[in-house]
Amino acid sequence: MVNYKDLGLVNTREMFAKAIDGGYAIPAFNFNNMEQLQAIIKACAETKSPVILQVSSGARKYANQTLLRYMAEGAVEYAKELGWEHPQICLHLDHGDTFELCKSCVDFGFSSVMIDGSSLPYEENIALTKQVVEYAHQFDVTVEAELGVLAGVEDDVVAEESHYTKPEEVIDFATRTGCDSLAISIGTSHGAYKFKPEQCTRDPKTGKLVPPPLAFDVLEEVEKKLPGFPIVLHGSSSVPQEYVDIINTHGGNLPDAVGIPEDQLRKAAKSAVCKINIDSDSRLAFTAAVRKVLAEKPGEFDPRKYCGPARDEMVKLYKHKIIEVLGSDGKAL
Ligand SMILES: [Zn+2]
Repeated sequence: MVNYKDLGLVNTREMFAKAIDGGYAIPAFNFNNMEQLQAIIKACAETKSPVILQVSSGARKYANQTLLRYMAEGAVEYAKELGWEHPQICLHLDHGDTFELCKSCVDFGFSSVMIDGSSLPYEENIALTKQVVEYAHQFDVTVEAELGVLAGVEDDVVAEESHYTKPEEVIDFATRTGCDSLAISIGTSHGAYKFKPEQCTRDPKTGKLVPPPLAFDVLEEVEKKLPGFPIVLHGSSSVPQEYVDIINTHGGNLPDAVGIPEDQLRKAAKSAVCKINIDSDSRLAFTAAVRKVLAEKPGEFDPRKYCGPARDEMVKLYKHKIIEVLGSDGKAL
């Protein structure tokens, strides 16, 4: 049993309270490898942004949960080395699907867990979430729950169709589960193909897909029901077209990849939305940089020579998100 406080990590409670008051959102970046973690910490140290490091079930399979946890512990020290005096770093389980998994993360030093019972019937989602909350709160670990279903593919989380969160359920759900934050479905979606072409319109000038807007009316209803309660948006990558273009012109094939426009996320960040999950965009930045190096220098075989530029590109992406989209820069001095 390790408590996250001994690792220099923080839970989400204070982060979220400040974010709601200040009208910004905390970045929740997934990590699977060293370069990604280095890029996240460097970007956050340089901008003094609080951050949520997320470990998904796919990351646990790929990189090993134990190794990822020790990497997060190392990240706190790395942040200090970079001159960030008081790093505010939360280590969060993304999409936990069982009580046992959430418990093992709490016991192992995670400072926050998500229990995703959104695919279960309503009463079962409440019962499972409540069980996780009762355990996690004993150790001051915060719990994110989910109501409503997001479409798309994220590691092991697959849903064909989305179902918007029903605002009439949120008070009952939050009260009975005791969860600390709530992920809702208002039209965001997992993955780099968030919308089918038939759901979008096409920009006549560029031929690119223009996605449908988020359901801000649902978000407003939720906010009215739960004033000041932290709301979370999953699946909020924007799928920058410059990365898609670099990938496609350097041997890749990502036709019609499309994400959530950044101006919509900026608008959401000013509301009760205080955690925005971004994963696909960093995968695209990484892949674009690697493809470019390998296409331009076919003789290159030192991974540092293409993972290094990929890391630099991710730092740029994370800083852009922090400063231009979420507004979390300067909030963890
Ligand atoms: Zn998610």
